[in-house]
Amino acid sequence: MKVLVIGTGAREHALCRSLSQDPSVGELHCAPGNAGIARVATLHPVDQLDGAAVTALARQLGADLVVIGPEAPLVAGVAEPLRAAGIPVFGPGKEAAQLEGSKAFAKDVMAAAGVPTARSYVCTTEQEAAAALDAFGAPYVVKDDGLAAGKGVVVTGDRAAALEHAVACGRVVIEEYLDGPEVSLFAITDGTTVLPLVPAQDFKRALDGDQGPNTGGMGAYSPLPWAPEGLVAEVLESVLQPTVDELRHRGTPFSGLLYAGLALTSRGTRVIEFNARFGDPETQVVLARLRTPLAGVLLAAANGTLGGLEPLRWSDEAAVTVVMASEGYPADPRTGDPIAGLDAAEADGTAFVLHAGTRPGPDGEVLTAGGRVLSVTAVGADLAEARAKAYAGVAEISFKGAQHRTDIAAKAAQ
Ligand code: AMP
Repeated sequence: MKVLVIGTGAREHALCRSLSQDPSVGELHCAPGNAGIARVATLHPVDQLDGAAVTALARQLGADLVVIGPEAPLVAGVAEPLRAAGIPVFGPGKEAAQLEGSKAFAKDVMAAAGVPTARSYVCTTEQEAAAALDAFGAPYVVKDDGLAAGKGVVVTGDRAAALEHAVACGRVVIEEYLDGPEVSLFAITDGTTVLPLVPAQDFKRALDGDQGPNTGGMGAYSPLPWAPEGLVAEVLESVLQPTVDELRHRGTPFSGLLYAGLALTSRGTRVIEFNARFGDPETQVVLARLRTPLAGVLLAAANGTLGGLEPLRWSDEAAVTVVMASEGYPADPRTGDPIAGLDAAEADGTAFVLHAGTRPGPDGEVLTAGGRVLSVTAVGADLAEARAKAYAGVAEISFKGAQHRTDIAAKAAQ
């Protein structure tokens, strides 16, 4: 199989790493990719938001499958021209991707499908926003309606700050606060059949102890030893399958990766958000545990034949990933600094380094090129071992102003 992956992040590096280990994959390509992906795939400097250019590349390569990693090309409709050209695509079309592209659309689908989520109001004026904030009371949850790379959500006890965010965004969803631990559950779907993956947890805040601003994600682990038994089956029945069925009935079937961000509240499981693609950094740990070769599963989702697949096989091992970010992330990340210790981190096979914001420098060195720079990942017999190995990898790596959380999976590993 010839596979083309679209995207530049550590999620795409994780996808490419798994695809490169699949014996059915003969050629692996990525556009535009990064310095780490270049070691397992051939890179092509194509604009990931340009559907015509991506389709031309896929045609030229004779791709048997295109995997669209990030939300932006999905919401921009890059899957459509590929499908029109008869090329199998992993990832939803523009309409179904609105599940992530618009929080208000997601709320509407959940209401129609009877999926449990936070009560909410869509607000477009300061008066509406103020009324919604007062209806729910503190802590206040204000979400930008559109795509914001995980940074459009403000959760605060400060009413003035909540209102200010609402006014700055224009159109927002204001909702009740959900207490309880969060779980990310991914499912691969062809629009009818839904195959849940193993649950993971990510760490959204920038600093230890869940302090600091929301980020795209600073680390993740799987499995979740504390999660209730039967969680996956419950979420499949009450969330994932009804959502996929609802979108199919609307004539805009969702195929690809449906990501449910869940809160396990005292009143039951609630959806915090949907995403229309693999989550970053949870993908790094989920794929580290997947034993079934990846390409065939993604192709079956693209071709509508998931129902005929054998059940997915998983490793009993634990996986932990720690994100190394640049100075100033998330507000104002510094870039262009050389990264040292990449080989040392992987030297004894303890950890593996997935690249996010990196690019090759003029003299063969690797330079920082974004907010989240690396995702240092390891597997172990249990979370404590995987965690120790991941942090041993992190300790080998340095670049100016590097920052990471020191408490990823710490509580769960105890
Ligand atoms: P989202 O982009 O919707 O996933 O929101 C980002 C983060 O904000 C989530 O992972 C939660 O930590 C937090 N959050 C979002 N919605 C709520 C809510 N209704 N109650 C409490 N926390 C929330």
